[in-house]
Amino acid sequence: MLVIIPLFLIIQPGCKPRQLVRPTPQMDTASRYWIRVLLLNNVTDCTLKIDSPFNVTTPNSYTPVSTVEAGFNSLEEPVKIELSAGRITIASRSFTERELTVYPSEQHIFSLNSNEYRGKLELIINPDGESFDAVNHVPLEPYLAGVIGAEIPVYWEPEVLKAQAIAARTYCLYIKKRFGKNRNWDVAKTQANQVYLGVKAESVQVWNAVNDTYGQVLTCKHPNGSEDIFPTYYSSVCGGHTENSKNVFGDSFEPLVGVECPYCKDVAKLTLFFWPMAQFDKNTVTNRLFRRYPQLKKLGQITSIEPSEQSNYGKFSRLTKVKLVGSTGKTDFLRAEDLRLTIDPTGRRLQSTICRIAKWDDKWAFLAGRGWGHGVGMCQCGAQGMARQGKTAEQILAYYYPGSRIKTVY
Ligand SMILES: [Zn+2]
Repeated sequence: MLVIIPLFLIIQPGCKPRQLVRPTPQMDTASRYWIRVLLLNNVTDCTLKIDSPFNVTTPNSYTPVSTVEAGFNSLEEPVKIELSAGRITIASRSFTERELTVYPSEQHIFSLNSNEYRGKLELIINPDGESFDAVNHVPLEPYLAGVIGAEIPVYWEPEVLKAQAIAARTYCLYIKKRFGKNRNWDVAKTQANQVYLGVKAESVQVWNAVNDTYGQVLTCKHPNGSEDIFPTYYSSVCGGHTENSKNVFGDSFEPLVGVECPYCKDVAKLTLFFWPMAQFDKNTVTNRLFRRYPQLKKLGQITSIEPSEQSNYGKFSRLTKVKLVGSTGKTDFLRAEDLRLTIDPTGRRLQSTICRIAKWDDKWAFLAGRGWGHGVGMCQCGAQGMARQGKTAEQILAYYYPGSRIKTVY
């Protein structure tokens, strides 16, 4: 017999509708597959909200052997985390330890300064005792779920999302291995590494791409003969040819030598593919260069920026090294990509180093620009172009990282 239950018995009046949240996978995975993301740097306070009971544990640890210092009930409203007199206080409870881990139960989700993240939150007082860093410890797959939707549009072809998932998974494991052991975190949450927005960047499409490529990374032959992961750089629009990593980041790997890319032109907006002239005041340029590279001060006011090395691709070329001449007559050299991001740290006006440099009264003008980003590795718009033509994630990755292989590591 069919019993119809009145709706008001199922949904209690006054109950807040609770969004269905996907539980955080991989919470019991080995620590080598966790990523530490720097969320806040040198702060003295922040806010925390957690919809489930949580523990504060010490020491910093991925494993259950850590000691529970305090248990908390779920928080109805955000509470303050503050540092004062060298101690961290969470919701008015003070702790003497220099490092604390906030470990949410159930969905394993916490909200820091109103942004939701998965995994755990580590709070580390800096050596001067004046500020602390907030670091998100998150397993690799939920980390990727917070990256892919921030890096490319989720409505793009599923094969591009999968290619992006494999490239992003490989890249962060490589950065962790290369730099993580010397610091309290592995990756920044900005474009300096990969843009990570946490739960709000997640979607069904992104989770599908993450799950369909679960544990897959790219490897290549290293100079010592071993087969291992490599820095799978990627950028938005290569402008027609990807660049050799040696000329931009100084590292040499077979899959990163650069390939012709006929695909991104039809995908990128015309004003992104061919960017408008960008002008910067000469004094601003000199000052920004001095701040970032104090050794350039000996040159005096920068009076000339000349191409020193470039990669020629027929119709266009990418500047890879520039010669700087100063008012003292002294000269120095910079990688063109370093010059670009020093002059325009956002990279939104001076979009790439496929351009010409000209003097324009009291300004430097960057003309005839093509592409967006450093141009090394996978071209994201190009990958979308390939997928539209029916290419698979494997084919896209094989094209932009020639000589690489897909390997499943867990
Ligand atoms: Zn391209």
